[in-house]
Order: sequence, then C-alpha cells, then structure tokens
Amino acid sequence: MTLAPGSVAVTAEESGRACPLCQSVARALAGEHPLFIAELDAAVLLLHEHQPLAGWSVLLLKDHAEHADLLADEVLARVHRDMIRAARAVRAATGCARVNYACLGNVEPHVHWHIIPRFAPPIDPEPRATVWTRPAEWLNRGVMPEQAAGTIAKVRSALGMGLRGA
Ligand SMILES: [Zn+2]
Repeated sequence: MTLAPGSVAVTAEESGRACPLCQSVARALAGEHPLFIAELDAAVLLLHEHQPLAGWSVLLLKDHAEHADLLADEVLARVHRDMIRAARAVRAATGCARVNYACLGNVEPHVHWHIIPRFAPPIDPEPRATVWTRPAEWLNRGVMPEQAAGTIAKVRSALGMGLRGA
C-alpha cells in the first residue's frame, strides 16, 4: 500500500495480533467471518455486529492505517469508490431514505467507515440525529443469525455478487 509521507501506518502483518479490525479483515479474507459481505478493491465490507437499523455495514480498510487523512490519494480514491459502491448496495437492499457515512476511529483506530441506512420513524426513531445519540440498548442489540444472513444476501445481490463462495 502506498502511504503519504509521514504516515505512521504499519502493515497488517505487523499489527495483526494487536488490532481487532486487522483480525476481522483476515477472517473475512479467509472466508471465516460470519458477517462477511464482500471483498471490494481497497476494503472489505462486513455487516455491523449490531443491527438496530437493518443493513448497517462497516467498511474496513484491508491494510492497517490509523488516519484517513494520512492515506495516499490513490488509496483514498479506491476506498471512496468502495464506500459509494457499498452505499448503493445498502440502499438497494434496504430501501432506506438516506445513507450516513461515519469515519470516527475513537474506539478502533484502524481506518473504517460505518455505512448506516436511515429510515423514517418508527424504525428509525430520530432520523435527523446521528445514531450514536440513541440509547445503548437500542444500539447494542446484536443480530440474529437468520436476520444477518438475509441482509447479507440482499446486499451481496445488490453488489452483483452471488451467494457466499459463489
Ligand atoms: Zn488494523
């Protein structure tokens, strides 16, 4: 991966033991992540582990880097295309009214984007607010395996991909 001058990024191999998101990327690329949706160009797309809003996905940079603003322009262009491709698929799969994009890094510094479909109430109680203003029990509700599988299949179909492994 080409990095901007001054970048503090290290390779996934060097950081993989310490970084949970590097581990998620490795599991996804090995076909072992239960929430895997798709491998894109510079990133992998997973369903978020909590589904208060069906289709909430997370786009993880394949390589370990901790600051989006220090990525090389070429990488940013590739991951931005991945993000929009993922958002179009989430929109097509869910029929959402809007897509939110969030790159925070406060909890997991490995560069990643939340791709969050937003809906009208009552499904989405406060569609004009960021999702993180919602109560923890709403945010951290997990997801049933059958629901996850159904959503993953819809997003994969919208990406033009078949069933997992196809
Ligand atoms: Zn990492």
